Amino acid sequence: MDYQLVYIVSDARSGSTLLDILLSKNPKIASVGELHWSHQYFNGNYFKDKINKNLCSCGKVVTECDFWEKVENELNKGDESLKSLESLTIFPASRFKRFWMCLNLFFFPNSKNIFEKEKNEKVIHNSIKIHKAVAKVANTPIILESSKESERAKYFDYKLKDNVKFIFLYRDGRGVAYSKMKRGISLFVASMSWVNFTLRQLIIERSISKEKRIFISYDELCLNPKTVLEKIQRFIGIDGDFQEQKHFIHNLGGSPYRFSQKEIRIARDDKWRSELKPFERIWLNILTFIPNFLIK
Ligand SMILES: [Zn+2]
Repeated sequence: MDYQLVYIVSDARSGSTLLDILLSKNPKIASVGELHWSHQYFNGNYFKDKINKNLCSCGKVVTECDFWEKVENELNKGDESLKSLESLTIFPASRFKRFWMCLNLFFFPNSKNIFEKEKNEKVIHNSIKIHKAVAKVANTPIILESSKESERAKYFDYKLKDNVKFIFLYRDGRGVAYSKMKRGISLFVASMSWVNFTLRQLIIERSISKEKRIFISYDELCLNPKTVLEKIQRFIGIDGDFQEQKHFIHNLGGSPYRFSQKEIRIARDDKWRSELKPFERIWLNILTFIPNFLIK
């Protein structure tokens, strides 16, 4: 194997971009970010939000970034290209279908035929081609990916076996829901999507062997970043000396502060504790009670 993969599994608004940036400061790690969007990025139609639109974290449009140009040249040697590698998102896209599939995995943990096998094997195969090209260009032994999807993690687990490690990042459902609501999502959708994702994440986590996964809490990461990062680096098997200097990252997707090349300020976002309205608080306390208990 040409590289080792480290994959972050988390819901949206749970600190995955922060963790990705912090880990990328280690010179042995190259981050590809949310690689599952690469087809959209390189074909110029990533329109999920106006800030992220087709931009690499270095601030250039991905097709004009020197780093990705080198990755493209590397892929061209094998007659591949970033544009032509098809969508790297796991099938099916529906959260509800994924939930039923994860329930299947919960009851039949050894079943390898649970997700749309043929299509997803291709997705993973194409993703690995990009990982290898990036590892070569960046000259690093470790690739970090923060696509976050838990089913994608399971496929990497099947395919890469001992060459992959997983970071399961969890955040209190009330904080995640509040953060999603601030972005215009309704209370119902924001809370239900977190419950759905977290239950799937827990099932997938437990289906992966213990030495290949680590549990990280968003609160702990924000309150004691140095301790948490050193713990993760030990888990990955690299030096624990956490680098503080400015660092340019060439990756895809994530929160807009990925564009800031200055030193990032690590602060726990806990506005939900004071800003939730009484009804929202009651709803979220009830709905998130069990999953929040499971991730403590
Ligand atoms: Zn770039």
